[in-house]
Amino acid sequence: MIGTVYKSTGSWYTVKARDGKFYECRIKGKFRIKGIKSTNPIAVGDKVHFKLETKGDETVGVIHKIEERQNYIIRKSVNLSKQVHIIAANLDQVFLMVTLNNPTTFTSFIDRFLVTAEAYDIPAILLFNKIDAYAIEERAEVAYLMDLYKNIGYTVLEISAKEGKNTHLVKELMLNKVSMFSGHSGVGKSTLVNALEPGLKLKTAEISEQHAQGQHTTTFAEMYDLSFNAQIIDTPGIRGFGIVEMEKDEIGDYFPEFFELKSECKFNNCLHLDEPKCAVKEALDNDEVSWSRYRSYVQMLTEDVDANYRQDIYK
Ligand code: GDP
Ligand code: ZN
Repeated sequence: MIGTVYKSTGSWYTVKARDGKFYECRIKGKFRIKGIKSTNPIAVGDKVHFKLETKGDETVGVIHKIEERQNYIIRKSVNLSKQVHIIAANLDQVFLMVTLNNPTTFTSFIDRFLVTAEAYDIPAILLFNKIDAYAIEERAEVAYLMDLYKNIGYTVLEISAKEGKNTHLVKELMLNKVSMFSGHSGVGKSTLVNALEPGLKLKTAEISEQHAQGQHTTTFAEMYDLSFNAQIIDTPGIRGFGIVEMEKDEIGDYFPEFFELKSECKFNNCLHLDEPKCAVKEALDNDEVSWSRYRSYVQMLTEDVDANYRQDIYK
């Protein structure tokens, strides 16, 4: 039988098979996935093959094969620094909820998130929430930011989760897809999910900030079917996105508008810093590339990865 992992406790996996039924499964023997050292062999979202085995009056599934992952998100393992924990696999898209204030989402955070999504190969969508609460100048700033990210190629939406404005468009984007919601605490993730699916409560929001920062508790993601043919992956305690280990000369490739210009730079390994005849710097001078994006880029190049990682995951 073939199915998708909806829940995992570490030793047991709840798998939804193609017949629509849920089966409790375990793994037989050792499982090694090529190219990645992880503390958990199988994660929520994985597509697995299993056989039913009956012992006495108990029937359990035994997973014997895992399909190649389209993508996966990780965090560093709590105890074993060399290993990673796979939070979830096979995400179709990730929504980043953004608010200008209460709380403030800085462009540096947005850009770091988008870079990680690019590196993970997961399409990212920006939701500018709480537009019902903004003054005229803030509306103008939202319009400016929406334009900025739309021009780079990202899907953007302005919404009010509280008043239901444009939430039907979020629903449309979610149809037949597995989605994840990210964003700082208080941006309105729970409010939105509740508007989309009354009764569904995100655990993402349940764990207090301090708890998440201090203890690095082991948390397990979970997948939920919504009533309108869409799935959500909820990641308790994780509001951002794990960081991918990146080489410095890779980061620029994850800024799509820089990557487009790279072939026009004089040096093919141009980092767009102080090199002569850099197409990105020229575009910056001509206002064709945004300063806030460039600032985020330089910041990422100079920051240490660990700081990056902490900010992304536990904010
Ligand atoms: P989460 O931490 O991201 O899950 O955020 P919540 O959904 O708990 O929302 C945090 C606060 O923002 C709550 O008081 C919500 O009522 C409020 N909120 C959420 N969405 C909106 C919105 O669209 N407009 C306004 N004005 N407030 C909102
Ligand atoms: Zn350059």
